[in-house]
Amino acid sequence: LYILAIESSCDDTAAAVLQNAKVLSNVVARQAIHEEYGGVVPELASRAHQQNIVPVVNVALKKAGITRSELSAIAFTQGPGLMGSLLVGSSFAKSLALALNVPLIAVNHMQAHILAHYIDEDGYKKPTFPFLGMTISGGHTQIVRVNDYFDMEVIGETTDDAVGEAFDKSAKILGLPYPGGPLIDKYAKEGNPKAFLFTKPKVAGLNFSFSGLKTQILYFVQKNVAENPDFIAENRNDICASIQHTIINILMDKLKLAVKETGITQIAIGGGVSANSGIRNTLTEAQTKYGWTCYIPKFEYTTDNAAMIGIVGYHKYREQLFNDSAVVSKARIAF
Ligand code: ATP
Ligand code: FE
Repeated sequence: LYILAIESSCDDTAAAVLQNAKVLSNVVARQAIHEEYGGVVPELASRAHQQNIVPVVNVALKKAGITRSELSAIAFTQGPGLMGSLLVGSSFAKSLALALNVPLIAVNHMQAHILAHYIDEDGYKKPTFPFLGMTISGGHTQIVRVNDYFDMEVIGETTDDAVGEAFDKSAKILGLPYPGGPLIDKYAKEGNPKAFLFTKPKVAGLNFSFSGLKTQILYFVQKNVAENPDFIAENRNDICASIQHTIINILMDKLKLAVKETGITQIAIGGGVSANSGIRNTLTEAQTKYGWTCYIPKFEYTTDNAAMIGIVGYHKYREQLFNDSAVVSKARIAF
């Protein structure tokens, strides 16, 4: 069974070919254009998708060593995401499925970030149901009770900014380019996480809030820069380590509460922020510290990619969950 998967929800154009649960190719064309603007410009993103989609798909097929006529189905991201970006991927997927006369499979991007753990990879275990998924990405921060492949329930989420935004906006305050998350991670490795103290927001239950932290960091930086113009340059690593430490603590507090409330001790993280080395280390330690079993995705399946869309496509194919070409893209979409 060969599935071609297409992901175009935000600013990366991605295509992958899977043979059952195994990834044969996983290609991502990143759009560098957005760096100049300090964030994703939707209109530029959809135009870049239009330019990239045909070559990216061709490279994915070539790397996989298969031809279009061998494909069994086409999977694509239905949402959530930027409408203009989603439409490029869905139009392409629909046309190709129609031309090849193979099933079309619409995939929820947030389910895909979680189900990426079901990709066959040497050295990686797959979670058994039920487990807790923590999706930490550029647009979402969710704790999800995963009962089965397509039976998921959001039990906690952010009430304002996503955790990826907290990283990116903090980075922007420090004058770092977009997206700043990976840079905070990099500098944090050389810094003291307890150098500066930021307070954690008080949010009841399993929900999150990150907008207050961003404001707190802004005031902290402004105040210190007013006293010493070189404050950021002199303390960059310590500031990054302290910010990252605070964010990890916020995530861990809620995760501990979710484990307590559900009794589930299997935790699988996903989404771009799960690439963060501090989070990966903390969860690895949590296994011995709290007796949890933690699933940490392979690096290439953390930020947006089409392999994760393909694995959902594979499981939907097995359950014959197909769509016709009337299926519509959705900027917001529940599970
Ligand atoms: P969503 O999945 O919610 O629609 P998205 O697809 O835009 O959002 P992802 O590609 O999953 O988001 O993740 C991108 C985010 O991950 C960005 O905010 C980026 O800064 C963050 N990120 C990537 N690597 C790291 C890292 N090492 N440390 C912290 N944040 C990171
Ligand atoms: Fe994503």
